[in-house]
Amino acid sequence: MSHVTGLRCIHCDKHYAVAEVDYYCPACGYEDGILDVEYDYEAVAKSLNPDALQKNGVFSMWRYLPLLPVEDTTKIQHLQVGWTPLYDASKLAKELGVARLFVKDEGRNPTASFKDRASAMGVVKALEKGADRITCASTGNAASSLAGFAAAAGLPATIFVPERAPQAKVAQLLVFGAQVFAVQGTYDEAWELCMAAAAEFGWYNRNCAINPYLIEGKKTVSIELVDQLFLQYGKAMPDWVVVSVGDGCTVGGVWKGLVEMHKLGFLPRLPKVLGVQADGCKPFLTAWKDKAPLQPTEANTLADSIAVGHPRNFQKGMNAIVESEGAFISVTDEEILWSIRTLARKAAVFGEPAGVAGVAGVKKAVEQGVVAATDTVALLITGNGLKDIQSAVQAAGAPTRIAPELSAVKAALSR
Ligand SMILES: *Cc1c(COP(=O)(O)O)cnc(C)c1O
Ligand SMILES: [Zn+2]
Repeated sequence: MSHVTGLRCIHCDKHYAVAEVDYYCPACGYEDGILDVEYDYEAVAKSLNPDALQKNGVFSMWRYLPLLPVEDTTKIQHLQVGWTPLYDASKLAKELGVARLFVKDEGRNPTASFKDRASAMGVVKALEKGADRITCASTGNAASSLAGFAAAAGLPATIFVPERAPQAKVAQLLVFGAQVFAVQGTYDEAWELCMAAAAEFGWYNRNCAINPYLIEGKKTVSIELVDQLFLQYGKAMPDWVVVSVGDGCTVGGVWKGLVEMHKLGFLPRLPKVLGVQADGCKPFLTAWKDKAPLQPTEANTLADSIAVGHPRNFQKGMNAIVESEGAFISVTDEEILWSIRTLARKAAVFGEPAGVAGVAGVKKAVEQGVVAATDTVALLITGNGLKDIQSAVQAAGAPTRIAPELSAVKAALSR
């Protein structure tokens, strides 16, 4: 039995019992009626507190089971999700101009992105429901991750990706045996098509924005971050937590995890959240700056995982920044390529474009006086660099071609 007490619509504030509704608030519809999972935190605190975690021998996202909506633990799959490394990256801190910088490498998850935290949760919920097929639409990582967890569970999966998703991510889908539809259109169009198909065929819907349980998986990234700062770095306290933003589910989950760790006595105060978008696709930044409602935009960026012109979890994403008194910032594709190189050369972590956007985001935020030079910053690297080799090659250039002779090496060295 979980400690879930119910679901609350973040738009109209109506409460639902868990058995009453599966995805979104029926009164508000899926554009606005995003639900939030609520817990009995007094009960949670009995088994999830600084003392208990110190003695906890589970090192994966299931370490935080009391804070997760799992009713049947036999539905948890064998793949190792979470407990990804957290590095104290001093060379990169110096490069970006902050006092201390922690880098959490989420590319070290089983399908190489932090989306595994959500998919692991989604598959548990699908199995609890007795679903016979699961579906999602994705820019790539949610898809490859769902395909992996569906394979682990022996659950058939149907996945919708935009035709232009990077080849490595599509290869993952096919290798894991998912049914893959490469949609001739944008991610936004793939999303709408998936929603229609799920409704038509009764498939279990893993789309993170409308399935309230997925973000519960995602929040474990910041819960774990705080846990690691507590255990491994002498209770270091971040002033900022930095993450890239597409649909807004990730940043929403990150904020929820921080709030919960504050509630449970791990954090003396709440950090601010810096949401990083691409210059060519920044609907959150625009709405935040203008204090205006969401205006869907075009999506022009090489950072495919955050190429989301119509964010599906706008309110939760926006709340994360506003409630934490944080900020949105955007970076150009050039700066994202610089981030790939700089993260790799200063911290030896190889990330995909959306995964590293926060590197340039921090630098810019320091230059603009948003982040102070005395601040401690935690940077979430959300996806592995091997996911998108084309961008990596664009970032790093070509090798020097030489003949297989020592004289050629000498000539090249003297050039
Ligand atoms: C999905 C994703 C994001 C953004 O998450 P949203 O929930 O869409 O905001 C960032 N980085 C990577 C690598 C992702 O796969
Ligand atoms: Zn509602």
